[in-house]
Amino acid sequence: MKCPYCGSDDSKVIDSRDVNDGVRRRRQCLDCESRFTTYERVLPSSLFVVKKDQRREEFNKDKLLTGIRKACEKRPMPAGAIDRLADDIEAELYQMGRAEIASTTIGDMVMERLRKLDYIAYIRFASVYRDFADITDLKQEVDTLLSAGAETAPPGGQLSLLPDDKTKVLAGGYRRRRK
Ligand SMILES: [Zn+2]
Repeated sequence: MKCPYCGSDDSKVIDSRDVNDGVRRRRQCLDCESRFTTYERVLPSSLFVVKKDQRREEFNKDKLLTGIRKACEKRPMPAGAIDRLADDIEAELYQMGRAEIASTTIGDMVMERLRKLDYIAYIRFASVYRDFADITDLKQEVDTLLSAGAETAPPGGQLSLLPDDKTKVLAGGYRRRRK
């Protein structure tokens, strides 16, 4: 670490503390005795997404966000839920510590989370991601949801701040109004 004042390579750490996602170090130059601060954090190595046609492209969270936002358009979502979802997925991807990841793996991760959040958004995402050919595919997906007991809003849905019994009543009322 070069001293920003004299360019010397010799410095000592006089203070070190954890901040957010990194470590901040206060240093003192051993030559000119000037003090300066460095910030150290883990740099995620680049992650490549392998698409269905085997092309690779660098993982791009904005792209992921755009896809999820589209599926969630006009759906009642808790504030920040979409960003949290994308953050979650990004963190999990980097935790895997792999250089490449199949786009289908990421798609499955989104599906799994959307399913807990909002069934309509889930179905919308599925129709694009799974490339539904016709209404039979759509019906199959909805039937799968219904057979898993999806008549009421998912637990992670928009009314999760209310007690359970109230949530059910309100979710029912909400549904009727939207028809
Ligand atoms: Zn110096």
